[in-house]
Amino acid sequence: MKKYKHVFFDFDNTLWDFTTNSKESLKEIFNMYQFAPYFADFEDFYSKYEKNNNELWLEYRDGNISKETLSFRRFASVLEDAGFPDSHFVSGKISSDYLTITTTKTKIIDDAYEVLNYLKTKYKIHIITDGFFEVQVVKLRASKLSSFVSNFITAEEVGILKPNKKLFDYALKETEATAEESIMVGDSYENDIVGAYNAGIDQIFLNQNNQIIGNIKPTYTVSKLIEIKNIL
Ligand SMILES: [Mg+2]
Repeated sequence: MKKYKHVFFDFDNTLWDFTTNSKESLKEIFNMYQFAPYFADFEDFYSKYEKNNNELWLEYRDGNISKETLSFRRFASVLEDAGFPDSHFVSGKISSDYLTITTTKTKIIDDAYEVLNYLKTKYKIHIITDGFFEVQVVKLRASKLSSFVSNFITAEEVGILKPNKKLFDYALKETEATAEESIMVGDSYENDIVGAYNAGIDQIFLNQNNQIIGNIKPTYTVSKLIEIKNIL
């Protein structure tokens, strides 16, 4: 087995439970701004928001839109389609309220503390995330994960998102690590696993929902974080 020295973690849905925390935040927004008359129910709004948000993230990743446009349009388009009054005027405020609310949510992925506690004495732990810097930093602190982390790399500071190899190269440089002594842990096959692979970094794929994968076989695959203790 390789002698790893650096463990790079993805943040959202690998350590911090983005799906649960984001959904809770959107529910608060749904109630606060009284969306109910414009959608069948919360789930109707949520599925429309998710679809729109995923499409906009691809646009953002490809450099076609700014982070401000992404943040605004993920609400504005859905609300406008639903006939929500003055959607164009309120979506900026809704978007900033949503981001603020998410930073107060602290649900983490099962066993994250235990695994990080186990790893911290043996390896340097870093994070590579696509999320917005000012949001991710607050989430990291609020969820009490920051004490485990040596370097916190956000795609935003580099101007390049996963799975671009340049982001992983930058992370290696920043942490003074080599690809050979590093391993990447992430829940996104396309972003974390293929991205790290292209940068010559081994990978642990956190495949919680039995996702189908492509041609590149991850170095390791686990269905729960705790299984990492058997690998590292
Ligand atoms: Mg993730």
